[in-house]
Amino acid sequence: MSGDIYALDEGTINRIAAGEVVERPLSIVKELVENALDAGATAVTIEIRDGGISLIRVTDNGSGIKKDQVRTAFLRHTTSKIRNASDLISITSLGFRGEALSSIASIAQVELLSKTKDELTGVRYCIEGSRETVFDDAGVPQGTTVIVRNIFFNTPARRKFLKTAVTEGGYISDYMEKVMLCAPDTAFKYMVNGSVKLQSFGNSSPLDIIYSVYGRDVMENMLPVKENMGPMTVKGFIGKPVLARASRSFEIYFVNGRYIKSKQISSALDEAYKPYLMLHRYPFVILYLELPYDEIDVNVHPSKMEVRFLDSEPVCRLITEAVRQALRNQDMTVSVKNETEKPPVITEVIPEPFEVKRRETLFVREEGSFEKKETEKTLSYEESPKDAAQLNLFSEERFLSEESLPRHRIIGQLFKTYWLIELDDELFIIDQHAAHEKVNYERLVKQLHEKNVTSQFINPPIIVTLSKSEETVLLERLEHFRECGFEIESFGGSEYRISAIPTDLYGLTPTEYFHDVLDELSSKKPGGDMDEVLHRIATVSCKSAVKGNTVLSPDEAKALIDELMKLENPYHCPHGRPVIIKFSKTEIEKMFKRIV
Ligand code: ADP
Ligand code: MG
Repeated sequence: MSGDIYALDEGTINRIAAGEVVERPLSIVKELVENALDAGATAVTIEIRDGGISLIRVTDNGSGIKKDQVRTAFLRHTTSKIRNASDLISITSLGFRGEALSSIASIAQVELLSKTKDELTGVRYCIEGSRETVFDDAGVPQGTTVIVRNIFFNTPARRKFLKTAVTEGGYISDYMEKVMLCAPDTAFKYMVNGSVKLQSFGNSSPLDIIYSVYGRDVMENMLPVKENMGPMTVKGFIGKPVLARASRSFEIYFVNGRYIKSKQISSALDEAYKPYLMLHRYPFVILYLELPYDEIDVNVHPSKMEVRFLDSEPVCRLITEAVRQALRNQDMTVSVKNETEKPPVITEVIPEPFEVKRRETLFVREEGSFEKKETEKTLSYEESPKDAAQLNLFSEERFLSEESLPRHRIIGQLFKTYWLIELDDELFIIDQHAAHEKVNYERLVKQLHEKNVTSQFINPPIIVTLSKSEETVLLERLEHFRECGFEIESFGGSEYRISAIPTDLYGLTPTEYFHDVLDELSSKKPGGDMDEVLHRIATVSCKSAVKGNTVLSPDEAKALIDELMKLENPYHCPHGRPVIIKFSKTEIEKMFKRIV
């Protein structure tokens, strides 16, 4: 890009989505990397220190900035990428707002070195808090280096909002992984506190980058996708269901070379993966979507992380179809192999029928029909003005009291999932899975609290490759993890060796288990206390305890109820779903119109 830099007119400025460009070190790295890519760089080095707070350096071999345009570049609303409002309709560059350099220079100490192909010498320009301090000739190679020091040095109040260097650095590392995947033709080198953390060589296939960023496990479980519909194409890789995660952090997609987040694309993915994943599990995908430039509006958000699709329906249809197709093709190969080899992946992940049933139960409860009438009944029964919730609870408490246990009549199991129990003039329904989950959860939390965890040694130890953000989550809580019974050591680079994990795995592989705990934690605020780690570990363990329908004998069901009785809050599972619901005799009689 050699276009000259101009100031935008007032009308265009007013049409640009307003908002703060620089929120944290990550925003600066993102803007500078986008500038390097817009300048046609084939090699970009990114260096950060102290999570980018004390230093960010981005060096590229792109077009460079002409000496006489450097000052202009640092003014507000100056850009070489668009000229007027009509250009906003089909933006082909990553940047267009003309605000990044000026915003960065207003809150930090910035040094720029640059040279274009045609100029003999380059330029060195320093600007601190919008005040120019140096403008000189400099012997530098073609391209641009921007060094940003001491972010928010002149606005301490904003500096206070930054998180720890580890966390801020983690955000940047996470972004760097995405950028490397986004531009596989560009050679990136990413350095943290003086050492190279990530590197790509510009000639690699996305799959090589997937391997170097996410490790062999992920790479080996990716399926290729390629599909087009008219002028739209989608290609990339989608994870087999075994790679499913507990959060959406690994739903990675690029639209016209832009890493974005989109609810619509997420639901298109959900749609395609629905038959393969359990509730609250999300796919691992890396997709590249190309659309005509005028089909998307990138002028929606200052950080450009969201786009608006002119018509999202065909885009989503294309994605859903492409992913479905890839998964379906996979089904066939697996089932052919299956005759002699291990069972197909698919059978493990078909959604549990009880999940649907559970949702229906919840729905009925939420509608309030039982609750309301029950309340009426209980009120007349008790003839007391206590609040309804308390009264309900009262009768459930009665159900689980020592005194009432001998009077339980266990009728049997329904849909292989629910236990029906009659007590006096009420019918109680226990969700066996929720009950199990609850009992296991409480037991585990108690053990963890009392530092009484039975560590389970894994032999041979497993080696996990962590993404940068997972690594951040782990390192911030390493002590907690150890206290909870994990034995984890660094194994060089982003690999970690796990030789012990707490408690039973209930069918999860140690790798899945560990990733799930990290995923659960990554959605939380950084640091966090011991209780949070503990809660997550317990949640993951217990969630995995309830896979599949299991037929219990009435005696086993009784034992489960006995265990429930000992808990402080037996009424809700760790995810907040009810464990026990009930119908009164009166209620049932009303439904049969025996009474009115
Ligand atoms: P924008 O990218 O939205 O145009 P910026 O403030 O980020 O706004 O940059 C202003 C201008 O400075 C760009 O339009 C571009 O012409 C020039 N520029 C910035 N960074 C570089 C770079 N690394 N290489 C070449 N030109 C650059
Ligand atoms: Mg820019």
